[in-house]
Order: sequence, then structure tokens, then C-alpha cells
Amino acid sequence: SDSPIIEQPRMSVIGTGYLGATHAICMATLGYDVVGVDVDENKVAALQSGRVPFFEPGLPELLRTALDSGRLRFTTDFADAAASADVHFICVGTPQAKDSPAADMQYVDAAVSRLAAHLDRPALIVGKSTVPIGTADRLTTLVQEIAPAGTAVQLAWNPEFLREGYAIQDTLRPDRLVFGVSSDWAREQLSRCYTALLAAEVPLVVTDLATAELVKVAANSFLATKISYINAMAEVCEATGADVSLLARALSYDSRIGGRFLKPGLGFGGGCLPKDIRAFAYRAEELGVGQAVAFLREVDSINVRRRHRTVDIVRDLVSGNLAGARIACLGAAFKPNSDDIRDAPALDVARMLQQEGASVTVFDPEAMDNARRAYPQLSYADNLVEAVLDADVVVLLTEWDEFTDANPEILGRLVSSRRIVDGRHALNADAYRSAGWEYRALGRPEHP
Ligand code: NAD
Repeated sequence: SDSPIIEQPRMSVIGTGYLGATHAICMATLGYDVVGVDVDENKVAALQSGRVPFFEPGLPELLRTALDSGRLRFTTDFADAAASADVHFICVGTPQAKDSPAADMQYVDAAVSRLAAHLDRPALIVGKSTVPIGTADRLTTLVQEIAPAGTAVQLAWNPEFLREGYAIQDTLRPDRLVFGVSSDWAREQLSRCYTALLAAEVPLVVTDLATAELVKVAANSFLATKISYINAMAEVCEATGADVSLLARALSYDSRIGGRFLKPGLGFGGGCLPKDIRAFAYRAEELGVGQAVAFLREVDSINVRRRHRTVDIVRDLVSGNLAGARIACLGAAFKPNSDDIRDAPALDVARMLQQEGASVTVFDPEAMDNARRAYPQLSYADNLVEAVLDADVVVLLTEWDEFTDANPEILGRLVSSRRIVDGRHALNADAYRSAGWEYRALGRPEHP
């Protein structure tokens, strides 16, 4: 392309959810002029007034500083975004489709189409959402059809690896940057969006578009596989009386294996891993290489079986019949330090317990509003004490510090029976047993 490189590009960030809001705020923090765009008026109004509409440590403070600097604003107006920015980051959702394992691409397509209709000068559209391989090529064609003739618009893919709960540090100091580009111009222009990070020697891998799309789903598939691997071992442990927590520890000292993501328990959930491995397996089949990643279906099944196994252990603790049992469910978010309940194992377990007639009370430090909205049929407590009061069984489902720090003796005085299921291998089993609790955990023997 003959378009000049802009040293300090102005940016739009389209889609201001967990990923987009974080990206917009961090880019403004790095000194760029940024406009965040979303179709959700409430979200835009909240962000513009200095309120982050989800839980992410440190982000509210950074938002207010960025707004005060005058470098960040939010709008629902795509014409404004097209006019105000040189580089446009696409950060909208790519959830699982309602009727198939595929990714639902309607939000990406709508965002890119609406933007493209207003573009009238050189622009770089940078996808950050997690998408099926081939999306960037498809969007390139779409943009060419929509953008006014003669407008130099290019597509790039810059997958995002941030973790909720660590979103700021993962954005400002990522483990690596991946630039999927189809021209030197795109590579150079994208580099100018991350000048400070590249100067700080964040590793950069420049790839073609397909590889960049693949990196993200390959990374998530690997992480999901590692979790399901140790949970498969937990199933074997359950059949043999072996202890998966000792097994995991012994494996972890092998530096080729490593201990991270080798934690047995209730398994993975959230708005990324489950839908990403399903969409990847589906896309691989479309591409004729379904067999290469057929194991991802097993990874998914192993993961889902852990939720049923947790219900089995709770049922076992109340003599095989959950009807009328009072169950305290600690946690709703898919992981601690997040209020995200998308595909949350915790709420899945709570729902299954209730379906068998248990009286279920849920408490989570941050995810209560989201949980109530998604599962209004469950009962909710205002705090930990209220949740466990008179419980027949306590089930730890999300390993918030507030739960793992709780004193087993004090907790024991509140419940009706001292029985606990540690769905996350996060509690001190000895401390609970010493305090008279019947302690159970996935993949560990009942009586060690
Ligand atoms: P999210 O649901 O929190 O946010 C998506 C946002 O896009 C919403 O605010 C929605 O209103 C908005 N949106 C929908 N259609 C739009 C349109 N046409 N124009 C403008 N905005 C529109 O989702 P998220 O968690 O931020 O995920 C976004 C993408 O990033 C997904 O592809 C996800 O897989 C990927 N990702 C997420 C994370 C994470 O930790 N959440 C990490 C890495 C990658």
C-alpha cells in the first residue's frame, strides 16, 4: 500500500466488553487517542461516566485517569469512529452459536460492515476477537464490497491473550504480541500501536493472517487439554483410590510438564475455553482436518463430566438423595477475581443440584448480579455466613480467597453438618478434617 505510516495512530476500539474496554483504556493509558464504540448504550454511558460495567481489578482507576486525560471517550456512533481513527480494533463477542458448536460471527460481521460503510480514507482494521481460521480473508472481501471505492483499507489479526483478573498487566506487559498481516504497511502500522511494548522487548511474532487466527485457538486448546488431562487422571484415581493432588504435584516437578494448568478439579469454563475448543473442532472439520483435533471433543467431555462427578459426591454425602438437602454453593464466577459467569462450572453444578430437589444457596463475592440475572431460579445469600447457615453440605465451586481463607472451625459452627466438597482442590484438607469435617475432593480418596 502507498498509504503513509502514522507514527501516533488514533484508534477506535469496537466492542467494549471485557476485552475491548480493557484494550481501549490501556491504549489511552499508553498515550493514544482512543474512541470506544459499542452498540450497547448502557455500556457506553457507564464507561463514559467513569464506571467499568464488569469486575476487573485496577481498571476503574485507569479508566478515570484516561477519561481525565481527554484521550479516551466512548460512543455508539460508527461514523464518529470512522472519522476519528486510523486504526480500528475489532473486539466484539464471538460466542457459541445457538444451534451448533460453531462461533457466531454475526457481531464481528456487523461491526466490520458498519465501520466499513463510513470509511473514506486509509485505515487498518485489526481483529482482536477469537475467530475461526479464514475470518480475516473473508472480512477483507466484505470490506472491499462495502467501503467506498478507492479507499485503502487493510485487515490484520492481532489475537488477544489477556486473562480476566489480570487484564491490565496482560495488556500492558503481554507474554507476546502476534501480528497477522498481509503487507509490510500493516506490520509497520500495527507496530506503531505498540511502540512502548516493543521498546520494552515484548516478544513479537509476525505471521500471515491464518496463523495469527490459529495461534489463539491453538493456545486455548492446549490449556484446555492440560486441564482435562489431569482431570482424566482424576477419573483414574477415583477408580483406584489414588490421589490426583499428589499425582499432580509429582508430575509438576518435571520441568517439561510444569505445574501450571495442571490443577485437578471442577474444570474450565468461562466465555473463552469451552466455546473456543468447540468452534475450533468444528472449523477443523469444515477444513477437512477434523481428525487432527478430534481429541478436543474428549477434552470437552472430560471437562463436563467433572461437573456431574461433583454432583455425585454431594449426593453421596447426603446418603444418595438430594431432595430437600440444604446445599451451600460457594462461588458463581467461572474463576476467582472475575464476575464472568459465562459457561461457569459453579452455576452448572448449582443448577444440577437444584434439579435433583436440593435447596441450593449461592454466594459469590462479585458475580451475584450476573448470576441472579442468568439463573433467577436459584437462591442467593448476601454473604458467606448467610450462605452456609444450616447447610447439610458446603460445596466450594470458585476458589475466591474469601472462601479459601475461611476458618474451618468457625465455618463449622454455622452449618448443620460438617461436610464439604472441595471442587477446586483449594482448601486445606487436614485443617478441615481436624475440625471435624467430612472433606471430599474430586480425584482424592474419601479416607486417606
Ligand atoms: P463481551 O461480551 O464482554 O464484549 C463484547 C462486546 O461487543 C459487548 O459489549 C457487545 O455489546 C459488543 N458488540 C456486539 N455487537 C457489536 C457491534 N456490532 N458493534 C459494536 N459492539 C458490539 O466479550 P469479551 O469477553 O470482551 O470477548 C470479546 C472477544 O474477545 C471474543 O472473541 C473473545 O473470545 C475474545 N477474548 C476474550 C478474552 C476475555 O478474557 N474475555 C480474552 C481473549 C480474547
